[in-house]
Amino acid sequence: LLSAALLGATWGFILLHPDLIEPLQPASLWWAIPTGIAFVLAERFAYFVEYRRDALIYSLSEVPLAMAVLYLGAGAAVVTRVCAGLLVFVMMRRTGWYKALFNACLWAFEVALAFFVFHLVQNEQTATTDRFVLAMVLALVCATLVDAVMVSVAISLFEGRLVSRLRTEVNTVLTVVLVASATAAILASFSIYWPELTAMGLIPLVAVWLVMRRYGRAAQQLRDFEALHRLSSSVSRSLHRDEIARTAIGEIRDILRSDRAAIVLFHGVSGEASVAAQIGEPLLDLPRGSDDSRWLAFSTAVGATLLEPIVLASLGIGLGIRSGNAIVAPMSADGRLIGALVIAERGGPNAKFDANDALRAGAMADRLTAALRNAELHEQIEDEAWRDSLTGLANRTAFERAVAASCDADGGSAAVSVLMLGIDRFREVNETLGYHVGDEILKETTRRLTTTLGSTSELARVAGDEFAILLADDDPELVASMAQRLLDVSLDSFRLPDAELVIDVSVGVATTRRRQVDPGTLLRRADVAMHWAKQHHTGVEVYREEIDHRTPARLSLLADLRSALEHCHLDVYFQPKVDLVTGVVVGAEALVRWEHPTRGFVPPIEFVQLAETTGLITELTDQVIAKSVAALRLLNDIGLRLDISLNLSTLDLVDEHLVDRLRSHLDAQQVPADQLTLEITETALLEDGARAMQTAETLQALGVNLSIDDFGTGFSSLSYLRLLPVLELKVDRTFVTNMLADERDEVIVRSTIDLGHNLGMKVTAEGVEDLATQRRLRELGCDLAQGFGISRPLPLSHFVAWLTTSGHEVARSSIQGSWKPVNRPLDI
Ligand code: C2E
Ligand code: CA
Ligand code: CA
Repeated sequence: LLSAALLGATWGFILLHPDLIEPLQPASLWWAIPTGIAFVLAERFAYFVEYRRDALIYSLSEVPLAMAVLYLGAGAAVVTRVCAGLLVFVMMRRTGWYKALFNACLWAFEVALAFFVFHLVQNEQTATTDRFVLAMVLALVCATLVDAVMVSVAISLFEGRLVSRLRTEVNTVLTVVLVASATAAILASFSIYWPELTAMGLIPLVAVWLVMRRYGRAAQQLRDFEALHRLSSSVSRSLHRDEIARTAIGEIRDILRSDRAAIVLFHGVSGEASVAAQIGEPLLDLPRGSDDSRWLAFSTAVGATLLEPIVLASLGIGLGIRSGNAIVAPMSADGRLIGALVIAERGGPNAKFDANDALRAGAMADRLTAALRNAELHEQIEDEAWRDSLTGLANRTAFERAVAASCDADGGSAAVSVLMLGIDRFREVNETLGYHVGDEILKETTRRLTTTLGSTSELARVAGDEFAILLADDDPELVASMAQRLLDVSLDSFRLPDAELVIDVSVGVATTRRRQVDPGTLLRRADVAMHWAKQHHTGVEVYREEIDHRTPARLSLLADLRSALEHCHLDVYFQPKVDLVTGVVVGAEALVRWEHPTRGFVPPIEFVQLAETTGLITELTDQVIAKSVAALRLLNDIGLRLDISLNLSTLDLVDEHLVDRLRSHLDAQQVPADQLTLEITETALLEDGARAMQTAETLQALGVNLSIDDFGTGFSSLSYLRLLPVLELKVDRTFVTNMLADERDEVIVRSTIDLGHNLGMKVTAEGVEDLATQRRLRELGCDLAQGFGISRPLPLSHFVAWLTTSGHEVARSSIQGSWKPVNRPLDI
């Protein structure tokens, strides 16, 4: 349609001015030949500046046009112009019949327009030199500008962006057109008014041509530079390789005017290839890997290589190119090939890629390499940030994310369970068997858990010896059975090169639905449950508020405990210990008591743990020591010679001031150190073995006695019993209370007694609730007993009263001369 309109307009001009047919300077039709040649030359030496999908043309076609206006009639000029144009079209191997047709019509129109404008301005009556020059300049400028506008319109019919295209086109050609038109007009006026000077007109002509070329080159370089910069900045906006490749390929298509291109990336050590981005009809036969032999010469070359179809054919690479050639640009970083850029089928005025295009492709590949390398490093770092390197599992951060995402699923109504699986006393495995064994156990546990879970649940290693599992379910039975299964597989023995090892595992479970709790809390709850299970050897534990120390209720309890300690409101009760053979009361255990102003009696197990987790335990222990030593002072004063045992917590054993404080209390009250016994649990000794052992030794040096409390519930590594200066073993009350009913409990009690005796220790049974148990314990050879069956823990005054009323003999102070256990059998 556009072509038809142009043709119609051309016809119209000629009809409007039939005298246009006549040339201004009647000359022979032979003039058509030099004019035609001039057109061909002008177009052939035109300078293209390509920018993205646009190509701007600087040519001196104004000169032949001026010649045509001067010496040929409109008809002959149109024919000459069209023939010359088509000849160049063929010479430059441009394709597309519709392009040829449109251009032919445009040339015809351009010539007719030039004639029309020229004759409009210049008419016979007012023929002067300056009028002539003006008419010629106007005619040429009009013709060239209209030409530029029409080309823009035509291209934008296919590719859009009319306004911006017009603006660039007009902006760029304006200056050049004016200079070229003026030069052509001056040349024309010379040839009419001073024919003998015409040759001199060639000088500005050549000068203009050279300037144009320079200008065109500079413009091209600037644009290449701009394009590269654009590429760099657009690819550096992303840190994901695929996204970078997708952005880059669009830019590359625009910059190199290519219709088909692909970015191939090579991965890992194997150099396996993947097509990260592709445009146009797919290129067949792309490199299959970084070591693809057919591509090797190009992929190891420095910079990009032009690939002519014949070369491709000889290598057996069929890209499926229909016309022209291709470019391959390798991308390598740190001596490793990370990818390749393959570009084919050039569009625009040059249908083939040339050396300049290859250079550009190389520069682009370099920019792309930098961006891809950054992205690769970023991905690596990101991966490391989300992954545990030993097991390859997700780490805590990744797991927390997954839990959060899972809680938010289904609009936040999803059911989510978190299982926390901890290996008990893992540190010991590391310390005794070596870290490589620890690592193997972690890896094997990972394998077992992965197989049990399948691929549906998220598994993570969230701490050295803790795994977390995310289940998208909250059915208590299902979750519990999964927890049990995970526990069972972890408990299977581990085969080490020269041993078989069984580890203990504890699992904590926490569940939520409809975001009752946030992900962080959910994880913490699973952790709380797991630690509870660990402490109480229950295997699997489901979170309950009672076991949580950080609920609001607990926090208010903590505040109250702090204030109770500050105001010395804690009390200490004493529970007697009796010699099973003689029935003599030989001492008492000091037990802390707290009568809360509103809650009433708070079981020590609750607030002692609270004190342990918050650091208040040091103060608590100190107050118990003070009261116990004061009690000893009082008992000594009334002539009794009793021992007092008090409980130390794990943290006390690593408290470096413990010994000093003990000494100062004992000194202040003038109480001999050996009247004090410190009860330590097995777990306390194992938490920080070396430190605990050291403290135990200093304590012994001080002269106080040591006792192992709750014996049988902890980790039964007997080695420390041999090493420690321990005076007493206390059989845990869970075995004692039930020993008459449960034979296995009795076996444990009996062997503990034997063990203690063999190591030269006294054995005390705690939790003795009745006479029958006392009798049995005495038969088994147990030394001392303590329990409700003898007396409940009592306040100091009641305790002193009890000593005189209970009917038990009491150990007397040697100062009073009568300290000797009386050999009176217990009345049982
Ligand atoms: P423990 O050291 O094993 O203390 C013995 C516990 O058994 C006491 O519980 C005592 O009241 C209880 N008991 C004594 N005879 C019997 C009996 O015949 N049957 C039963 N069922 N229980 C009996 P209590 O006072 O509730 O203390 C619980 C735990 O709290 C203690 O266990 C100890 O681990 C801790 N604790 C108590 N006082 C202190 C203290 O001053 N400092 C520290 N660090 N821990 C303390
Ligand atoms: Ca105790
Ligand atoms: Ca105990």
